[in-house]
Amino acid sequence: MSDHIETLCVQGGYRPGNGEPRQIPIVQSTTFKYESSAAMGKLFDLEAEGYFYSRLQNPTCDHVAAKIAALEGGTAAMLTSSGQAANFYAVFNIASCGDHVVASSSIYGGTYNLFAVTMKRMGVEFTFVSPDCAPEELEAAFRPNTKAVFGETIANPALTVLDIEKFARAAHAHGVPLIVDNTFATPVLCRPLRWGADIVTHSTTKYMDGHAAALGGAIVDGGQFDWMAHADKFPGLCTPDGSYHGVTYAQRFGKEGAFITKATAQLMRDFGSMMSPQSAFLLNLGLESLHVRMARHCENGQAVAEYLQRHPKITWVRYSGLPGDPYHETARKYLPNGVCGVVSFGVRGGRQAAEDFMGRLRLGTIATHVADARTCCLHPASSTHRQMNDAELAAAGVSPDLVRLSVGLESKEDLIADLEQALAAV
Ligand SMILES: *Cc1c(COP(=O)(O)O)cnc(C)c1O
Repeated sequence: MSDHIETLCVQGGYRPGNGEPRQIPIVQSTTFKYESSAAMGKLFDLEAEGYFYSRLQNPTCDHVAAKIAALEGGTAAMLTSSGQAANFYAVFNIASCGDHVVASSSIYGGTYNLFAVTMKRMGVEFTFVSPDCAPEELEAAFRPNTKAVFGETIANPALTVLDIEKFARAAHAHGVPLIVDNTFATPVLCRPLRWGADIVTHSTTKYMDGHAAALGGAIVDGGQFDWMAHADKFPGLCTPDGSYHGVTYAQRFGKEGAFITKATAQLMRDFGSMMSPQSAFLLNLGLESLHVRMARHCENGQAVAEYLQRHPKITWVRYSGLPGDPYHETARKYLPNGVCGVVSFGVRGGRQAAEDFMGRLRLGTIATHVADARTCCLHPASSTHRQMNDAELAAAGVSPDLVRLSVGLESKEDLIADLEQALAAV
């Protein structure tokens, strides 16, 4: 099929045969029928391809995963029940107890907690580095037991832009893959695999779904990382898996398929964070218009950011589409077609003014969400980060006056008028 993102959004991943449903069928079945135990045994041994139980694979989910793989330019992909599950599986697939991972400090709070608290309890250590660190500082973060490097293309909520090539170079110099969470950019704005990332993850809950309808996640393998060349670091991929009849994933499935096959066969089997076929169907509806929606989110986000930047009651604006933004140059390189619809800014008068302002918005609803067709906003200091005092907030990069606005698909004139009336009143 075409490599144009527009065509892949609409038609990637599913080619119906003669007389088959034009829309992806929802295969709402936990299980699949076979004529003989021998035939089923081959599936269990990963010797034949086919479906036997939807915890491992389901045709609806596989069609949608194939579309996301095509969008990212990868060789294999899997869906998960949430973005949290996607990031957990992507890291845990290659790093377990006794291992170490280098991660950008500018990442989603839920991912930070997963890494710094929960995975630490599982014996995986993380070193967090600034996304802006000098190459020497990045270099110094590696240890002999480092198994991966992790970052976010556009970080939620800090809106920093990752220098993907810098992080990929460092990872590859140490024989480990770079994992990039591409949730905010989506493959419409950036394809991290093209810049040297090896694995891409998504919270499909955000722009990919785009309608705040279904939670979900995805993992895509670029198929470039040579596990066998670093076999000592990745025994899980490069030595026989006793829990799967001695299969050696990197040998049997090659660079293109080993990572996703192992994550499905082991992690999905044992942890079971699968996406439901219903959710996969909804996700696909979102993907069909992703390219059209992202263009409008970027256009509206840019217009709102420019408006806010000129407003006397706004003390600062963070949006890498603005020429003065610290990440503007990085964004021009990696995100030439736009930097998504999320803008953060400070309201003069601090915490109280931010809360008052948000309460007065009519179109922009208060919601713990981003990347939705409907404009929504969040005041982290009084919601997601409310247990922190001002000093702790500062350390987390969240100032008390910070408002995160996720600019939706409404008319930009209406959105600006809504901001105008709310700002006039505070
Ligand atoms: C929301 C989000 C996640 C977590 O995804 P869920 O689908 O909510 O589990 C991970 N990474 C980023 C960048 C996110 O924005």
